[in-house]
Amino acid sequence: MKKARLEDGQVVLAHQFNKAVHAGQLLCADPNCTAHMVFRKESLTHGASAIRSASFVSKAVSDHIAHCSAHEDFAILARTKKSIEQALKDDKTSIIINLNMALTDDFNNVARDLVCVPSTFEKGTYVTASAKSVEDVLDYIKTIEEKGGKQGLAKTFVNYKSKTMPVTDFVIDSEDKYRDLLNKLYKKVDTARPEADLADFPRLIDFKATKRSRGLDEGDLFGTPVGIMKAQGNKVVLLQAADVPPEFQTTLRGENVHIVAIPRLDLTEAKKVLQRLRNTANSKSYLHMHWKVVGAHQFTPIETPEPAQQPKPAPGQQTSFGI
Ligand SMILES: [Zn+2]
Repeated sequence: MKKARLEDGQVVLAHQFNKAVHAGQLLCADPNCTAHMVFRKESLTHGASAIRSASFVSKAVSDHIAHCSAHEDFAILARTKKSIEQALKDDKTSIIINLNMALTDDFNNVARDLVCVPSTFEKGTYVTASAKSVEDVLDYIKTIEEKGGKQGLAKTFVNYKSKTMPVTDFVIDSEDKYRDLLNKLYKKVDTARPEADLADFPRLIDFKATKRSRGLDEGDLFGTPVGIMKAQGNKVVLLQAADVPPEFQTTLRGENVHIVAIPRLDLTEAKKVLQRLRNTANSKSYLHMHWKVVGAHQFTPIETPEPAQQPKPAPGQQTSFGI
């Protein structure tokens, strides 16, 4: 595991761990789970051909509670990956990744049980893969991409509370996809009443904390802004805001992470910006896209180091998912 919980409730990432600073017991990252964790530092793998990154390990899966969102049950993962591989060999079989995870504060066990496959898929024409964390999602996508390539991804869908979305739309890894998401949310602005209406299906994003966020000890956590050109020479600068509880504030500051979260615009702010886009030309507006994080299962460090000699990708043009 890449995360563990300290005695004071703070979550620490494996590469952040410092024995001198983080004294005391290490627990599973799921706040409801009491499994003890041990730190395993970075090491060379067999034959010294690769580096195994630092992590936290528990003695046994049975140490964790039944609904733990953090442990990696390799037996279940291996079985699921096998059925994914079989589905990839058959043109007619789709793959559905079920997001069985809390993405809002009001998520409870009842809601968890309601996550089910939508009726638009005929029984027997799909296989399902249960994802209880962002790590699971990344793992499945990697398997599908490696074994089935673009064709495999094209028949993969993500299911959250009985709504589905193609995985290629679910993964936001380009400026175009941010634009599509913004347009989708903006279609609801004129009719939206409560703020909650300006939310959309969960997405997987790369969140890279800005320099300013990194420099501060507390306060808002912002990720790389995305510039989006609109009609009449107007421009919207989409500011990525990670809405995280106090126990993750320090964890995520200065980090590059993958996040699965529900995107949301503030209705008042969105209305104001939309009015401006309609009534002016050549203007520049700032708009916050909020990504709510309620649990450690929603984020994981981006492990691929960016090569220093290569030019950095433009904001919103990261392609670490290869989609
Ligand atoms: Zn656990």
